[in-house]
Amino acid sequence: MTQSDTRVGVVVLGATGSIGVSTLDVLARHADRFRVVALTAHSNAQRLLEQCRVYRPDFAVLVDVQRARQFEADIRAAGLPTQVLAGEGALVDVAAHASADYVMAAIVGAAGLQPALAAARHGKRVLLANKEALVMSGRLFMDAVEQGKATLVPIDSEHNAIFQCLPTGYMQSQGAARRAAGVKRIILTASGGPFLRAPADALRTVTPDQACAHPRWSMGRKISVDSATLMNKGLELIEACLLFGVPASQVQVLVHPQSIVHSLVEYQDGSVLAQMGNPDMRTPIAHALGCPERLASGVESLDLARIGQLDFEPPDEQRFPSLRLARAAAVAGGSAPAVLNAANEVAVAAFLGGRVAFTGIADLNERVLNAHSVTQLNTLDEVLAADAWARHQANAALAAVAA
Ligand code: NAD
Ligand code: MG
Repeated sequence: MTQSDTRVGVVVLGATGSIGVSTLDVLARHADRFRVVALTAHSNAQRLLEQCRVYRPDFAVLVDVQRARQFEADIRAAGLPTQVLAGEGALVDVAAHASADYVMAAIVGAAGLQPALAAARHGKRVLLANKEALVMSGRLFMDAVEQGKATLVPIDSEHNAIFQCLPTGYMQSQGAARRAAGVKRIILTASGGPFLRAPADALRTVTPDQACAHPRWSMGRKISVDSATLMNKGLELIEACLLFGVPASQVQVLVHPQSIVHSLVEYQDGSVLAQMGNPDMRTPIAHALGCPERLASGVESLDLARIGQLDFEPPDEQRFPSLRLARAAAVAGGSAPAVLNAANEVAVAAFLGGRVAFTGIADLNERVLNAHSVTQLNTLDEVLAADAWARHQANAALAAVAA
């Protein structure tokens, strides 16, 4: 970097994942306005090295310390200016770094909480893809955004769509100003996942690869399984309540198999605003990087005449009980969302590892949630304790099933 470099500094947490790669694709189209400060990965050193060659970040973080020494040697051999850091703590360091203006939070799961929180506390523009971080920490995260004077822009396509359909400044507004916006209902669309038409008894035997073959979106395996169980929509319901300050009763879920309408906001006067576009995460990413300006994203123009028809139907909470569980957790509040999220992370990993049936995911989530007495979460330690408790319960239940 030179002293005269006035470009926006961007940190991409989870650079090697699906959202990370899409983010770098958009950044590459606008190298005149953005520069990459840091890229992070869990253990995919090879992809991270390739990304460092192209984007030449100041820092590269590999969480897996075992692989970091070789990775550093590879960076040096490639003659790159990048400083290599290792371990979880380094995620927080780069997220809070003085040269980071924007932080893309695209780590999957609870592992992304602390760096995302650090970015919020340090007043960054936080581009939030990592919904689990918000779901588990709830008010604590929103308070960190407010106290750190950070700007939170949702990346989840539904929440980014809602953000676009709300008046400017809505998320920072409170009291009378917020009421004057006249939001009546938020309508979250859901593709329905790969098993939208599958009969209930067929769901017992579906495989991880079938669950990850999403009809509309290409995503990491964890969120793909969540989309198949509809837990993804459940987490998104909790996410919407937190981001937009509405109770769960004001959030409706609507299945829309084409994934063209990304979500809607209904106002008191009967107006319903929707945001549409082809299902490609580069649209919300470009929006969040550019707003209030609009940036080219590389996404194809929407051809409604070719699509011809847009369908909508209610979700089936009998076949997909995870949505009902998430709504219950949203209503219970406090520690319930953190507990559900942690149980679900354990359950999804067990399903992907062949240790539990697809339908066992919701069963496990329900067991752990039912065993939990809800408490308020006022500190990060309390959030982490609720998460750890739920993981322990879920693992114990899995072990009991296996025995
Ligand atoms: P992914 O599995 O493709 O990528 C995950 C990234 O996180 C990788 O870079 C990986 O190295 C990193 N990571 C994984 N475990 C880690 C750990 N323990 N510590 C540090 N880094 C770790 O996932 P994805 O599909 O890109 O999803 C990322 C997040 O964005 C998730 O929270 C997901 O729900 C959300 N999201 C994704 C999409 C999508 O289209 N992929 C859409 C909306 C929201
Ligand atoms: Mg989404």
